[in-house]
Amino acid sequence: MRCCFSVRIKAESPLQSGLDSKYVSKDEDNTSCKISSVPLTPRSEGEILEASNLKSFSFNELNIATRCFRPDSVLGEGGFGCVFKGWIDEQTLKAAKPGTGIVIAVKRLNQEGFQGHKEWLAEINYLGQLYHPNLVNLVGYCLEDEHRLLVYEFMPRGSLENHLFRRGSHFQPLSWNLRMKIALGAAKGLAYLHSPKAKVIYRDFKSSNILIDSNYNAKLSDFGLARDGPRDGHSHVSTRVMGTYGYAAPEYVVTGHLTTKSDVYSFGVVLLEILSGRRVLDKNRPPGEQDLIEWAKRFLVRKHRIVYVMDSRIEGQYSLGAALKAATLAINCICIEPRFRPNMDEVVKQLEQLQNSKDTGSTKSEVLHRHRKKRTEEAFNNRKAASCPQPSA
Ligand code: AMP
Repeated sequence: MRCCFSVRIKAESPLQSGLDSKYVSKDEDNTSCKISSVPLTPRSEGEILEASNLKSFSFNELNIATRCFRPDSVLGEGGFGCVFKGWIDEQTLKAAKPGTGIVIAVKRLNQEGFQGHKEWLAEINYLGQLYHPNLVNLVGYCLEDEHRLLVYEFMPRGSLENHLFRRGSHFQPLSWNLRMKIALGAAKGLAYLHSPKAKVIYRDFKSSNILIDSNYNAKLSDFGLARDGPRDGHSHVSTRVMGTYGYAAPEYVVTGHLTTKSDVYSFGVVLLEILSGRRVLDKNRPPGEQDLIEWAKRFLVRKHRIVYVMDSRIEGQYSLGAALKAATLAINCICIEPRFRPNMDEVVKQLEQLQNSKDTGSTKSEVLHRHRKKRTEEAFNNRKAASCPQPSA
C-alpha cells in the first residue's frame, strides 16, 4: 500500500508534456496535483496497444479470474487502485479455477483515483516493450468501456516497503544478505532502463515500487511516471513532473531537468532505507529523526559512526567493512552534485563486489560493542526527547 508520507509531487504543465488537461487531477488531500505522462515519442493508444505483444483480456475474464474482485483477494492498494489476486490457465491465459494454472495480480483502475488512463497507457507502453528479469512482467491489460486493468505476474512477497517497515509476524525483518540481494536486483533493473537499449528514466524509484518474488528477486513495477531519456545529444529531459517527496533528486525538484542521475539519487535514498530500516520521511519518529537523510547525515560523515544508522534488527549479520561500503555507496548516490553520483552500472558493480567479497571487516565482538553503544545512545536520546517535547512538524 502506498505510504501516506510518500506524497507524490506532481506539477507538470499539460502544454509541456503534450497531455490533455483532463488528466490533471488532485490528490485526496489536495496537497498536490498530478498529470500523467507519456513517452517523449508520442504514439497513439492503438499503436501502443498493438506494439505491446500483451494479451488483451475482457473485463468478464478478469472478473472470473479474480472471483468477482473479492475483497479478500486484495493484495494491496496504490494510487492507481486495488490489486487483486487471480488465476489464469498457463496455456490459454483464460480465467482458471482458484489454485490452478498461474497466479496473477490484477490492478484495477480506481475511477476516482488521481492516476488515470495515461498512466495505464504508459505502463503498457514501457512494460509491453521492455523485458528484464528485474522488471515486473506485464501479462496483459483490459480496455473495455470505462474499465482499465493491468495483469501482472504475481509477486508472492509483495513490496520491499512492506518488508522494511511493516511490523507483525507476517513480516519478519529481512536479513542483511537478502537486503543486499534486493538492492542489487533493483539496481540491475534501473541499470537496464538507463542502458542504450532502453534509454528510459524511471522517475519514481521508491521502496513501494520494488516487488519481491518467492526467491527474493527484486522487480521494478509502476512505470506510470517513466519517461524516455534524453536523445539527440541532449543532457536532460525538461519536465516539471516529480516523483515522490523524499525520493526525488533535489536538482530535479528545483530545475525540472530530469537525468538518469535523478534515478541514481532515488536509488541512494532506498539503499539508505534498506540499511537503516527507516522510511525516508516518517512523521511518527521524534523530531530530528523524521527526515532520514538529515538524520543519517550526521552519522554518515564519520566512518566509525555508520553503525548508528544500521537497522538494529540485523545487527551481527554483517561485517563493519561491508556496512561501510554499502553506506558509502548510498552517500555517493545522494550526493547533492549529480555529476559526482555514480551511474547505475557502477552501482551494480559495487554491489556485486560487496556480495562477492569475503570482507569480514571488524570482528563480531567489535560490531556488537558498537551496537551496544548505539542502543545506549538511542535510549539516551529517547529520554531526552521525552523530557523536552517539541511541537510536531
Ligand atoms: P501499486 O499500485 O503498484 O503500488 O501496488 C499496490 C500494492 O499491491 C503493492 O504494494 C503490493 O503489495 C501489491 N502488488 C502490486 N503488484 C503486485 C504483484 N504483481 N504481485 C503481488 N502483489 C502486488
